[in-house]
Amino acid sequence: MSAALLVVDGDVVTMGPDRAVLERTTVAVVDGAIAALGTAAELRAAYPGAEEIDAAGCVVTPGLVDAHQHTTGDPLIRSTIPDDIDAQQAIFDWAVPIHAGHEPGDDELSATLTAVEALTNGVTTIAEPGTVAHPLSVARGLSAAGIRARVGMWGWDTPGLPWSAPVAEVVGRQEQLLADLPPGGVVGAWVTLVGHDLASDELFAAAADLAERAGTQVTWHLSPSDADGLAYAARSGKRPVTHLADLGVLGPRLVLGHGVHLDDDELATLLDTGTAIAVCPGAYLRLGQGYVTASRHAEFLRAGGRLALGCDSHNAGDTPDVLRAAWLLAGVSRDTRAGAPPLTAADAFAVATRTGAEALGLGDVVGSIEVGKRADLVVFDGTAPAWTPRGDLALQLVWGAPSGTVRDVLVDGRPVVRDGSVTTVDLPALREEAAGRRAALLRRAGIDAPTSWPVRSALVPGGPRT
Ligand SMILES: [Zn+2]
Repeated sequence: MSAALLVVDGDVVTMGPDRAVLERTTVAVVDGAIAALGTAAELRAAYPGAEEIDAAGCVVTPGLVDAHQHTTGDPLIRSTIPDDIDAQQAIFDWAVPIHAGHEPGDDELSATLTAVEALTNGVTTIAEPGTVAHPLSVARGLSAAGIRARVGMWGWDTPGLPWSAPVAEVVGRQEQLLADLPPGGVVGAWVTLVGHDLASDELFAAAADLAERAGTQVTWHLSPSDADGLAYAARSGKRPVTHLADLGVLGPRLVLGHGVHLDDDELATLLDTGTAIAVCPGAYLRLGQGYVTASRHAEFLRAGGRLALGCDSHNAGDTPDVLRAAWLLAGVSRDTRAGAPPLTAADAFAVATRTGAEALGLGDVVGSIEVGKRADLVVFDGTAPAWTPRGDLALQLVWGAPSGTVRDVLVDGRPVVRDGSVTTVDLPALREEAAGRRAALLRRAGIDAPTSWPVRSALVPGGPRT
C-alpha cells in the first residue's frame, strides 16, 4: 500500500457543495490525494502504519488560493517603493527598472521567498501573472518551497519596454514555456500578458488562441485604476472590456487581474462570457486606486461572476496573505455602493478557496476538502488566542484573519509547513542571500531607496543615544 498520512480529529471546513463543517474528523491522504474522511479509528484501521498529524482542537481548511501574485521584482525590494507617489510612478519609475535589473538568481530567490511566506499564511496555490523574465528559475524556486503554482512570463509587444517583442516571438516564448512546464503539474505554466493597454489587438487574440489550443487559462491586467479606461478611449473609443469583447478574447479561460473600474455594460459582458476576475483589495488601497468607490466585485459575485482573490506584489498589497485579502474584500463591500448586497465572511472565504480555484481552472483539483481532490490542506492552531473561544468558523476565519495561527500545511499531500515553519528550504540561508541580492539589485537599477524616518546606528557617533 502506498504511504498514507492521516490528519487526525480536526474540525474540517470542507467548502464542499453544502459547505459542511465536519467536527472531530480525520482526513486520509494517499498518494497526494484526499482518499477518505472519517473517524480516526476507522481510518487507522484502513491505513495501518500511516503517518499522523494530530489536529485535535484545530481547524482544518482547504489551502487558500492566491490568483494574482507577482513572485519577482518586488519581493527582493519589499517595503521599499514609497507610499507618497502615485500608482503609475510606482510601476514605471520603480517596478519596471527593478524588473529590468533582475538576474535569473534574483528570480529564483524572489519566487522561493514569496512561496515560503505564502505557505506560512496558509496559501497553497499561487498564480504568477507573468511579469517574469526567467520563468524556469521561478518554477525552480516555487518547486523548492513546495507550493502549487501557475507560472507565466513577460508578454507585451509595446516597443521600448523590457522584454517586449513582436507578437510571434511573444507567443513562441509562451508556447515553449507550456512545453517546459506542462500545465497539469503542481508547478505548471499558463499564458500571461501584462495587459492594460500594453498589448496590440493581435497579441491579445494570439494569447487567447494559445490558451484555447493548450487547454489552459490565460491572464492579464485590466482596469485597477481609471487609467486603462482613458487609454482605451484614445485607442478605440471603447471601454476596455468592450474593446476586448469585440476582439473575441473574453471567456472562461481568461482571468482578468483587477477589474475594478467597470461600467454596467462591461460588468454584464464579463458575466455573459464567464470571464473570471482576480481582485487584489490590498493593492488598490495601498496604491490609492479608487477601489472603495468603484469596486463592483460584490455585484459581480452576487450575479454569478467567477471571482478569485489575489495579493498582487510586495509593494502593492505587500504580503501574500489571502485571509487579509478576504477581510478587505468583504469589508469594503459592506461600506460601498449603496444597493449592492454586501459580502459575508462565508462568501469571502469561498472566494479564497473554492471559487478562486475554479477561476484558475483548478476546480476539479483543489479548493475544497472532498475525496478525490488533491490534498492541499491547512491546519490552524485551535489553541491560539485568536481561536479562544471558538465562534462561528466563517466569521472567525475571515474577520479574525488568523493567518498567524497557521500551524501545518500540506500541498499535494506533502507536509511543507510544520509547527508554523517551512520544512522545505533553509530559511536562514535564504535570509542572508536576500540581503545581498536586494542591495545588488537596487544598485543595478540605479535606485537609492529613501527611508520614511532618519536611520542611525548605535555604533556610530550621533546614533540613537543623542
Ligand atoms: Zn499585477
